[in-house]
Amino acid sequence: MNNIAIIVKYNNLDDEVIYEGKPSFQIVEEKVKEIGLPYYIFSSIDNKNFIKFDGTVNSLLKQIDFNVKSFNNILFFNSDMPLYDINLVKKMLKEHEENLADFTLSENYPEGFSPFILNRASFKKLLLISTGNNSIYSYNSIKSLIELDINSYDVEIISPDIDMRFIRETFSTKNKRGYILTKSLLEKNVTSSNLLDKIRENPNLLRPLPIYITIELSSYCNQKCIFCPYSKIKKDKLFSHNLEKLINEISIWTEECFVEFSGIGEPFLYPEFDKVIKIIMEKTNINFIIETNGTLIEKYIEKLREIKNLTLIISINADNKQDYKNIHGSDDFDIVETNIERAIKNNINTYLQFVRCKDTEQYLEGFIKRWDFIKDKIILKKYNDFCFMEDKKVVDLAPLNRFPCWKLQRNLYISSDYYLSPCYQDIKNSIGIDLSKKTIQEAWEELNNLYKKHWENSYPDICKNCDEWYIFDM
Ligand code: SF4
Repeated sequence: MNNIAIIVKYNNLDDEVIYEGKPSFQIVEEKVKEIGLPYYIFSSIDNKNFIKFDGTVNSLLKQIDFNVKSFNNILFFNSDMPLYDINLVKKMLKEHEENLADFTLSENYPEGFSPFILNRASFKKLLLISTGNNSIYSYNSIKSLIELDINSYDVEIISPDIDMRFIRETFSTKNKRGYILTKSLLEKNVTSSNLLDKIRENPNLLRPLPIYITIELSSYCNQKCIFCPYSKIKKDKLFSHNLEKLINEISIWTEECFVEFSGIGEPFLYPEFDKVIKIIMEKTNINFIIETNGTLIEKYIEKLREIKNLTLIISINADNKQDYKNIHGSDDFDIVETNIERAIKNNINTYLQFVRCKDTEQYLEGFIKRWDFIKDKIILKKYNDFCFMEDKKVVDLAPLNRFPCWKLQRNLYISSDYYLSPCYQDIKNSIGIDLSKKTIQEAWEELNNLYKKHWENSYPDICKNCDEWYIFDM
């Protein structure tokens, strides 16, 4: 069989030395050679050693078609994934050839151990399908094209004995978090077959940095939503620490992350919101999200429309005034509806959120019909009982087997009273750490102990009673 590999070369940390004096790009090249495959390097970077494409999937496939004349199967590698497992790749290739598959992939592993394998006929088909499509090439582009019409391909799937989806990481050097994580796994000689054992020995490898940070600017709210703990706890505090300094620290520390302004209260009640907008505009390496009830955004629309790194999530759980009042405890339906229309007209990246619970379920159909024209920007959020409220959930989404909490693995929550927790379940700061006594990095590392306990199936009461451990943000 005439098999070839292509390596897509990125412009991220794949040129930084990561292991034994070599950068990721070099490690990937060496692994491809060791498998015994002739290979071609494609990149959107100008460099005489790479075949240039414009960054889109179609352009990549066209360039492969033009430059690589003869092959039966093609393996797609990425330059920033140095953990490719040679044994797994060989096993995939063997199964692919023996079963005359069109497309072969591995499933139930974290991303980064294996390439995709495509035969020539399917390659030609994808080339045709992608014509006129300007989507940017990323790790899963080939798989996404196959999934458009999956029944017309013979797909071979290689799976591990134990499902490892719960680790839910991409082992790549695409950003600082991925770089640290991948480096530490390389140093521990991690492969697809010993990953679980190595992580069990040292779970904190999976917590190099947070990726999703929530800051509660206000625990005060101008509404009393029926599913929200606000009226039961009434903390009524405003964030009173130096927000600019905090965001600067986060920016330097993580280099790239999501920062969400939400919590138990309404963020636009923070009295210095103009300063928040200025910070958002300056920190272009951070993707900001504001989760709001949408009552107070009118005066900020002109400024918000200029911001590219911002997403608004507006909570509206009804399609008419009366139902809205029943749910939100306020008469603000018209204001919020008008503000949503303003935000959309001004091209602000806006999502509408509906919390599904016993009290709101009857309004779901009306909500979907009302906002049908932006149906790809609707978030149906599960009910959260915050570990102390009545159980009002309408569907049980929890996986059958419990695994270590994803929020603890990836998230941080900074409350208006300046405590750091993994999540906003921690209303009484039972697992939270006082940030006036520790730096944010020290507090994050201190949570390693709790994460390790999760891997040992030992949970403090708040985690034991929690139904949010499987919620994955971004
Ligand atoms: S299990 Fe629940 S309470 Fe515990 S850290 Fe995760 S989200 Fe928070």
